[in-house]
Order: sequence, then structure tokens, then C-alpha cells
Amino acid sequence: MTDPRELVQKNLEDVRRRMAAACLRRGRPQDSVTLVAVTKTVDAAAARALYDLGVRDFGENRIQQAEEKIAALSGLDIRWHMIGHLQRNKARDVVQRFAMIHSVDSLRIAEAIAEQARKRQTVARVLIQVNVSGEETKSGIASEEAGGMARDVARLDGLRLEGLMTMAPFCEDPEDCRPCFRRLRELRDEIAAAGIEGAEMKHLSMGMTNDFEVAIEEGADLIRVGSALFHGIIPPTPH
Ligand SMILES: *Cc1c(COP(=O)(O)O)cnc(C)c1O
Repeated sequence: MTDPRELVQKNLEDVRRRMAAACLRRGRPQDSVTLVAVTKTVDAAAARALYDLGVRDFGENRIQQAEEKIAALSGLDIRWHMIGHLQRNKARDVVQRFAMIHSVDSLRIAEAIAEQARKRQTVARVLIQVNVSGEETKSGIASEEAGGMARDVARLDGLRLEGLMTMAPFCEDPEDCRPCFRRLRELRDEIAAAGIEGAEMKHLSMGMTNDFEVAIEEGADLIRVGSALFHGIIPPTPH
């Protein structure tokens, strides 16, 4: 049986190589893209293996699942990214534990996050999740609403709007995701051009295992990758 650490190392090298190649194709510096390792299907030991290989950004989509890992790895210089749909009653925990929230999909959740951040006297860094493809099963606001939402969110004290996030529909051919990523970049550029006070539209969080190379070619600077890093790792048993 392969040592899980060796497996993770091989997977990471492969992902890094593919990231570098995508950057090269667009003449982008390699350090312009941050890999957010999505650890939702693995335990703290697997995340730790990646940390030891230099990864510092980790993504989780559920608070409850994340908490154990965050506790197990506390004291390490890890930036945790919340990438899943949020409930208002979880705003306090998410503000406390996460460096960035990618999944703001309503003004109500943005207000709850801002309120908790003010209580803690911090500023929450957030992205607005846009459902570019319009698939009913995906969270996120409609593309047409992104500009208005950006204005409303940027106005809130206690948070800073730093960009947009999307999930592309699953495509057999990742090339088919390109229009979705391109649209998110255009939306980001439009919002940036509007010069909204309090908005700093520098991040585009897009691209997962299946499509991150295309996302990088279209301007992603945060890619969220799980399966490609952890395939072959046995998932933790639920309890
Ligand atoms: C699970 C998840 C990912 C990672 O998906 P992979 O296909 O495993 O790379 C990225 N973004 C979100 C929002 C997720 O829930």
C-alpha cells in the first residue's frame, strides 16, 4: 500500500505542474494563483501532509466538519477559506475561524457576517458567489444581480468585498466551462470599473479539479481543488 503522504505529495506535484503550465500559456506569473486545498473529504492528517509540503490555504464547505480540523491544526499559519453555503446562525463561527468567505449569496448573510465582524472588531474578507450558469441546483446570485449586490455588500461596515466566486457546471470537456469563467471575469471587471467605495475587486475564485486549468487561463487567482489532491486517500469514517 502507498504511504498516504507520498500519495499526497505526488498529487500536489501534479496539480502544481498543471497550474504552472496554465499560467505559462497566459504569460501569468506562477505566484499569481493560489491553490486552496479543499479538505472536506479528508481528515486533519491529510491536511497536515499538505501543510508540510507548503500549502497554507485550505477550504471547507461546512462549519461542523471544519471545526475538528481547524482545532487539530490550530497554531499553524493556515488560512481557512469558507466555500460552502452559509446559514445566518453560523456567521459568528465563520467570522471567528475563517480568513476568507467565498460564498456570500445574499444580503442577509452579508449583514450577519458584518455584524459579527464588528463585534469582534475585525473586518471579514468576502467574495460574492455568482451562479453564472443559472443551474437551479447551484447556490449563488444571478449574474444580473451581481452589480447591485456588490454595491449593497460593499456598503456594510465590518466586511470588505474582495471579489467574486463561481462554480461551473460539471462539463465532460472542461473547455465547455470557459464561457462561465469568462463571464465571471467580465462581471468582476464591470464591478471594478464602477469604482464602488469599499469594494476591492481583486479576487476571482473559480476552478476545481475538473476545470482549474481553464479557470486559470480565464483569470482565476484562487482555485479550489479537492479530488485531484486527495484521490487515493481513504476518507475518514463519519462519527
Ligand atoms: C468540493 C468543492 C470544491 C472542490 O471540488 P473538487 O472537484 O473535489 O476539486 C471546490 N469548490 C466548492 C465550493 C466545493 O464544494
